[in-house]
Amino acid sequence: MNAPRDQYEPGDPRTRYPDVEPEPQTQAEPGLQSDMRPVPDLGESTYRGTGRLAGRKALITGADSGIGGAVAIAFAREGADIALAYLPEEQPDADHVIEQIRAAGRTAVPIPGDLRDRAHAHTLVEQAVDGLGGIDALVSGAGKQRWQPEVTDLSDEQFEATFDVNVFALFRLVKAALPHLQPGSTITTTASMEAYQPAPDRLDYAASKGAVNNLSKGLAQALVERGIRVNVVAPGPTWTVLQPSGGVDPESLPEFGSSESPMGRAAQPAELAPAYVFLASHESSYVAGETLNVNGGMVTP
Ligand code: NAD
Ligand code: MG
Repeated sequence: MNAPRDQYEPGDPRTRYPDVEPEPQTQAEPGLQSDMRPVPDLGESTYRGTGRLAGRKALITGADSGIGGAVAIAFAREGADIALAYLPEEQPDADHVIEQIRAAGRTAVPIPGDLRDRAHAHTLVEQAVDGLGGIDALVSGAGKQRWQPEVTDLSDEQFEATFDVNVFALFRLVKAALPHLQPGSTITTTASMEAYQPAPDRLDYAASKGAVNNLSKGLAQALVERGIRVNVVAPGPTWTVLQPSGGVDPESLPEFGSSESPMGRAAQPAELAPAYVFLASHESSYVAGETLNVNGGMVTP
């Protein structure tokens, strides 16, 4: 795939990456990024760190692939050690990101497990704290998205499962992490353009992302008293395995991102990572309760 030399290369944002136009493809949820055609760019050959997160200790969920994977690679190259949370069946994708973190000379602590398991939040945080010697940055990248053609096809079970992963597990994780977070720590969550522009074929997902955005702004108010900054990244259409593993209608994949985004193309995960770096870095010290939209120019509230 054509890619910039690094994230600082100047040029036309519309053509920085090609419009992927993926052929129709499907995988079982959660899917393996390594089986996608084309494989997304996590910044492996492009992301250049400049010490913006030197010495930080980050716990990142969904760190095996897509946006979470790109964030893990970027954070490591900026000088952070990383605990990676992901589902056990995603180990091959996780191994790829772990290799990148270690090649950057940083510590990678792999912690497979299901965020729907209520006890897992505590195990995850304890293992991250043990492996890294503490945590001072939490990034929530895990997410569940399943399209359904009709409202009546969307089961109560799916609605609950989506909220469980996207909203309830996030709250459990924040509560489990709080005793370890000192002033100067950051929490960065992941909402979506869907939080304000719900697509009719993924009502549960869109509503859950509205909840993530709202919950994060509320948490930002509550936690500023502890010196902890909470912020949100709201991606637009991004080429990740979430889409071909049931996230969108496979027939729509060739058009993915092209018509929605004023830039005429989907993002690559590598283009999302700098927003998370900024929000975790001390350089954003006066930014809290903010939603940073990275969506190619779609209008937001
Ligand atoms: P992705 O599939 O690469 O990452 C999602 C990750 O969520 C998976 O890798 C998996 O590790 C994790 N996950 C899902 N269910 C889990 C569970 N029960 N327990 C533990 N982990 C679980 O896809 P992505 O697009 O990089 O997604 C990252 C985040 O970005 C998600 O929150 C997603 O909703 C959000 N987002 C994506 C897009 C897009 O177009 N790709 C747009 C807006 C928001
Ligand atoms: Mg994955």
